[in-house]
Amino acid sequence: MAFSSLASNRLRVIIVGTGFAGLAAAIACARQNFAVTVLERSSGLSPHGDSILFGSNASKLLHRWDVGADMYKRGASRGKWIFKTQQGEDIWVEDLDEFPAIYGAPILQGKRASFLGSLGVEARLLGVQIRYESEVVKYWDSAEEPAVVLASGEVVSGDVVIVADGVHSPARHLLASRDRPAVPKRPSGYSIHRAVMTSGAIASDATCADFLDGTIRTWVGDDCHVCTYPMEHGNALAFTFTHRDEQREASLDWRNKKPIAEATEQLDASWDPALRAVLAHFPSTLHWQILDETPETEWISAGGKIGFIGDAVHAMMPTSLQGGSQSIEDAATIALCLAMAGSDPAGVRVALETYESLRRPRVQQAQSLGKQQQDLWHSFASRASSSTSSPPRPSSLRPLSFALYAHDAEHFALVNFPAYAQANDPDFVMQRRWVVEAARNAGIDLAQVPRPPAGGHGSTSESDGPLEVLRERGNGSERAAESTAKVLRTRRSTLLRRRS
Ligand SMILES: Cc1cc2nc3c(=O)[nH]c(=O)nc-3n(C[C@H](O)[C@H](O)[C@H](O)COP(=O)(O)OP(=O)(O)OC[C@H]3O[C@@H](n4cnc5c(N)ncnc54)[C@H](O)[C@@H]3O)c2cc1C
Repeated sequence: MAFSSLASNRLRVIIVGTGFAGLAAAIACARQNFAVTVLERSSGLSPHGDSILFGSNASKLLHRWDVGADMYKRGASRGKWIFKTQQGEDIWVEDLDEFPAIYGAPILQGKRASFLGSLGVEARLLGVQIRYESEVVKYWDSAEEPAVVLASGEVVSGDVVIVADGVHSPARHLLASRDRPAVPKRPSGYSIHRAVMTSGAIASDATCADFLDGTIRTWVGDDCHVCTYPMEHGNALAFTFTHRDEQREASLDWRNKKPIAEATEQLDASWDPALRAVLAHFPSTLHWQILDETPETEWISAGGKIGFIGDAVHAMMPTSLQGGSQSIEDAATIALCLAMAGSDPAGVRVALETYESLRRPRVQQAQSLGKQQQDLWHSFASRASSSTSSPPRPSSLRPLSFALYAHDAEHFALVNFPAYAQANDPDFVMQRRWVVEAARNAGIDLAQVPRPPAGGHGSTSESDGPLEVLRERGNGSERAAESTAKVLRTRRSTLLRRRS
């Protein structure tokens, strides 16, 4: 059996998976000068999938990491988002060009494979080692030196393992204990058809050439909705059609393509003729079952050195419009927590516990907004037709996820880490220079991070200073994080009591 103990005097980080969560974590960790190795079972970055959207909350991090500008160039992230009735009448228009001014960064909307490529290049430029055809088949959940075993039999050990192996997360099953088995994800009762095609045939069809004009369009029907997304500056178009599917006939495999008729036959003549015309050009559709998710109970392994991020710990409904974005926030937060805990193996457990405390309430909020969004969009048509006295407001179609866009996950971690680390481990002694260095490595000027009102409860080993009281003003997630920290502390001590 071959052993690779990643030799380095820097914190040795092993990341499993090269989806957005894994690559973003690789970039954020490399920016903190950690020695990063990413293990991916496939032979390269996945070419699968179609359109993906990153909200301003993720986009501001990606821009700070110098990769957002490239994604912005590759995507179709400006223009309008128009909401329509099933018949094609405009109900609400959102001006995406205003988003940088309102939320601090544009949305990034484009082809999944292309965006993944941008992150892959950046990770390599930062010295990240990406090893393809390296499937992890076993985890060693050691409190001293965690390790993974590859299908080849090679053992790779490090100081921390970050699991970003996606919605089906083999790691979750490999790490589950007999008394706490991994919970299988539940079908939500809805499925989504999705596809992407290059623009040729659409561009030459006068009835639907408008679809390539840079506008995102959403039609709300009876318990369903359809979206079209322009990509690559009008050179490609993607669509999604989300509908009730009690039969659960949809697949769970991103490669399982079906004839387009399986989608279009559900959109009868009452639907917008332009939409029907454009969808007729797509050769096939991928029919994907939407899984209902609550965040997993365990975000960290019992040994305290293996943490989960991205879909592996909290898949999102597509209507949350936050699947990719929350992965980026996870990645940013976990890297900063490791750095603020001293960039040292001894600080890994408190770093991972604090990452969970900071992230769990936010993730729950995004998941819950996704469910509410689906209900709102899917009931709009029936509420509009049944209610004459108080019809639903057109603005109620505005995506609820916009409420998450102003957040800056890195600021939030810098502000709240000291208090939550202390809450998770009262013996943890933090040095202010760890925060200063973490912020500097992340490219953040601490003086620009919003100062909290007097009486903040942060504490460091040194005397009062700006870091001690850095907290985001008026941010509801902070209150939620406080109560989560309490719940997690109680649960952890119950677990520890049970183990001893
Ligand atoms: C093929 C594919 C296509 C998608 N297309 C879209 C889309 O079009 N639109 C959209 O909104 N969302 C799409 N998604 C989902 C979206 O990418 C995620 O919600 C989000 O980006 C977070 O992903 P993640 O990095 O947590 O997981 P994923 O993107 O699922 O990445 C997980 C990675 O881990 C690797 N992996 C798994 N097990 C192992 C193992 N044992 N050893 C080593 N590597 C392992 C996988 O090969 C994969 O590369 C897609 C996901 C996938 C996998």
